[in-house]
Amino acid sequence: MNLILMGLPGAGKGTQAERIIAEYNIPHISTGDMFRAAMANETALGLKAKSYMDNGDLVPDEVTNGIVKERLAESDTDKGFLLDGFPRTLDQAQALDAMMKDLGKEIDAVIEINVPEEILVDRLAGRYMCRDCGATYHKVFNPTKVEGTCDRCGGHDFYQREDDKPETVKNRLAVNVKSSEPILAYYKEKGLLQSIDGNREIDAVFADVKNIIE
Ligand SMILES: [Zn+2]
Repeated sequence: MNLILMGLPGAGKGTQAERIIAEYNIPHISTGDMFRAAMANETALGLKAKSYMDNGDLVPDEVTNGIVKERLAESDTDKGFLLDGFPRTLDQAQALDAMMKDLGKEIDAVIEINVPEEILVDRLAGRYMCRDCGATYHKVFNPTKVEGTCDRCGGHDFYQREDDKPETVKNRLAVNVKSSEPILAYYKEKGLLQSIDGNREIDAVFADVKNIIE
């Protein structure tokens, strides 16, 4: 089963990926891990990617695609794989098709964990900190026991990091939506896209994932 997993930050992609690889015993291929491995092993492409990153430049598609192709050619993917974080652009999606053809494989399904943006903002922008002792809380998942009072030090002065502020989170999500839309449309047209309602319990989401795979 050759799968692509998609979803916005905070949609629960990481949790579902863990469940999928444990259940089906296929490798989880994330771009971050691939880059780290290629650089650690000092492969020709890994060194190339490193030279761009060291200069603060974006790694060009041809290098990224080369690293993905090398990884997908490894024998542990013979029974299938779960691709995560790639493709990020329509060009990369088309390059992936060409790679799969070369390797004699096919993508079987693209699973999108779909959660409304406003719910993701609640999940991602809920973190806040006590200014006095640094204790970390979350509005939804881990609030203080008494509203407005730090559990640890009794302080009343809280703040949010720039990255955790709703406006920052909304912008980050908007960038992600814009870049993923053409990719989702591309796979929808190919009849490969399976969207799952990710705004439910982890087990319910995973039950849908299993239905798709099986
Ligand atoms: Zn405190």
